[in-house]
Amino acid sequence: MASGDFILGIDLGTTNSLVGVVDSGFPILLADAEGSRSTPSAVHYGRDGSVAVGSAALRQRVLDPARTVTSVKRLIGRREGEGDWRPPYDLRVLGTTAVEVSAAILKHLRTVAEMAMETTITRAVITVPAFFNDAQRIATKRAGELAGLIVERILAEPTAAALAYGLDKLGERKKIAVFDLGGGTFDVSILEMRDGVFQVLATAGDTELGGDDIDRLLAQHVWETSAQGQSVWFEQLSAEVQVRLVTAAEAAKKKLSSEATVRIELPFLWQGQSLEREITRADLDKIAGPWAERTRQHCWRAMTDAKIKPEDLDEVLLVGGSTRMPLVRQVAQDIFGREPNVSQSPDEAIARGAVIHAGMLSGALQQVILLDVTPLSLGIETFGGLMNVIIPRNTTIPSKAGEMFTNAVANQESMLVRVLQGERELAKDNWELGRVEVPFPAGPRGSARVGVQYSIDANGILQVLARDTAMNHDVVLEIQNTAVDVDDAKVEAMISESVEHAFDDMNERIWTEARLKAEELLPAVDQALAQLGCEVDLAEAQRIQSSAAKVRLLLKADVHDARALKQANAELDDATQSLAVLLMDKAMEEALARKGLA
Ligand code: ADP
Ligand code: MG
Repeated sequence: MASGDFILGIDLGTTNSLVGVVDSGFPILLADAEGSRSTPSAVHYGRDGSVAVGSAALRQRVLDPARTVTSVKRLIGRREGEGDWRPPYDLRVLGTTAVEVSAAILKHLRTVAEMAMETTITRAVITVPAFFNDAQRIATKRAGELAGLIVERILAEPTAAALAYGLDKLGERKKIAVFDLGGGTFDVSILEMRDGVFQVLATAGDTELGGDDIDRLLAQHVWETSAQGQSVWFEQLSAEVQVRLVTAAEAAKKKLSSEATVRIELPFLWQGQSLEREITRADLDKIAGPWAERTRQHCWRAMTDAKIKPEDLDEVLLVGGSTRMPLVRQVAQDIFGREPNVSQSPDEAIARGAVIHAGMLSGALQQVILLDVTPLSLGIETFGGLMNVIIPRNTTIPSKAGEMFTNAVANQESMLVRVLQGERELAKDNWELGRVEVPFPAGPRGSARVGVQYSIDANGILQVLARDTAMNHDVVLEIQNTAVDVDDAKVEAMISESVEHAFDDMNERIWTEARLKAEELLPAVDQALAQLGCEVDLAEAQRIQSSAAKVRLLLKADVHDARALKQANAELDDATQSLAVLLMDKAMEEALARKGLA
């Protein structure tokens, strides 16, 4: 295989990042110059303009915590101030952004891979948590591009884990739970294998729950139970002393995964005094007990959302470095009522899965698995030229969804189904993939019942089925490939346009909805007034008239003031409350009279 065809598989983690590639048919993870296959996701920005990545950055953290960026994954793709986490650094002061910091890490990984493979590599698959939203995925992709990589695929972490465990060979309808406890976050996902595709049925978790918490709790415990700790609170210690304690606590915690006791030795820690302590696994379990228990509710939530019970699961996978803790394994086993599968290294499983997926894409691994998602939303034009989404963007294919529609005007004899693709609120701003006419018997407004179903098969072929449910008449339209074969640039343009126009689009949508409502309301009010005008008092009739006039005025205005129209509609609705009651009584009386009961 030509070296230029390599595609990197990258686990861009909150705490640690890994990179690998399929070489001679085998997925392998690549080590850096220090022989390590895992790079801390840390970047140090020196005052002199130097940039250090990975363990070199972590070494600086002790000396220069405010200029060492860690856990940047918690910030990527988020607006300023969004989320609860407040970092111990300020990216603006450092003159950088979360995307750029991530790009620095990715660039480092790319270099590690290029050194190991002795060739340039420009393509990559990058994993992200299943719960990452569009903005976070786009930002991650952008970071890859800044690192000079073509990001072939953004892959969900639990899906990558399942691939690493070879569960794609399990067969259909198998259900898997992926329990991922890393450095700073906890994710649990329920996956199902369906038609050759992993679908994420549900995902839950806590972005503030991870191994870091234990490092800090253990450091505090160690300090507060030491001789010096009697006089000074942990929080009062300098940042440097705190970092030394936390680093020692993490090392102790890791050792306690395989040993029963460890010694902590910190020479000249504070005011020339050293700290020496012995910690047992029992001490650690006591500190970590409530923390590990916090995973339970999220697992139940994910299972509830996926509508399954623990016994419905075929496999439970543990990933993330913190699942090496015996206590965590115990809790996971207890939650799911089964022995978890730990046959793969928990800290490498996601990276390995990313590499396998990259290998499938490049053709280095002979096996086809479809993990496509719809790049853009698919929908239908509805009343007033609005886009009604049927299958949202980023839905895993195959997928099927439908909705019921009716006629907007009386005596309509057919409905035009326009199949649209795009992210804009107005139909005319999206792309038309096809159209089909559905005939139905003429009747009053709202009498027709047309069901529209979209189904995309594993090959990305969209089939549109429109059914007049009264006559049981079907019209089928097949749209080849267009549903998923859209080039990336166009998808990006569509998404950025939709963001750019979001405000105007939303205003236009609210306006159109309010206009349709007003057009329905006004004739009904006129008719009711004509029929019952003499039965309402003058003041009320005047209030109704003036509210109706206000709606009419707004409808005619050149500038579409959506909010004002909505408000005027509401006022009109309110003013006609008792008129509506009168109308109802009247109708009731008439109906009873017809039956000879009154
Ligand atoms: P992330 O997905 O957040 O990048 P990882 O999966 O690499 O993180 O997990 C990192 C966390 O795992 C850290 O908190 C680290 O202390 C913890 N960890 C790594 N090895 C062990 C171990 N042997 N025992 C306990 N915890 C460990
Ligand atoms: Mg991880």
